[in-house]
Amino acid sequence: MEFKYLTCKCGDFMHTVRFTLDTEDGELWIETHMNHELPWYMRAWVALRYVLAMPTKYGHFDVSMIEPKDVGDLRDMLDCAEALQSKTMASRTLRQTQEKHVTTNEVL
Ligand SMILES: [Zn+2]
Repeated sequence: MEFKYLTCKCGDFMHTVRFTLDTEDGELWIETHMNHELPWYMRAWVALRYVLAMPTKYGHFDVSMIEPKDVGDLRDMLDCAEALQSKTMASRTLRQTQEKHVTTNEVL
């Protein structure tokens, strides 16, 4: 696993996001913090609105702004994920082709 933490341009630690790259198969995902700044009853109200699918002005998501200095690192991570996923897909396709070939030969 490879991790990249991006600190939001505003500097708020709660806006930090973590990109995780599975270096085996190239899966890449993003993890964010839940906002705990509101008092419990306001968080409960937000949760209830979410459960009831009530619209909000900005949606039910927070935002993190990527610093220009982090763009290159993020691009490198995305390129690595793309390369690993292509390699995994090529390997999977080759294995399926070989399995089909073996199955076809068994029938004949
Ligand atoms: Zn921020």
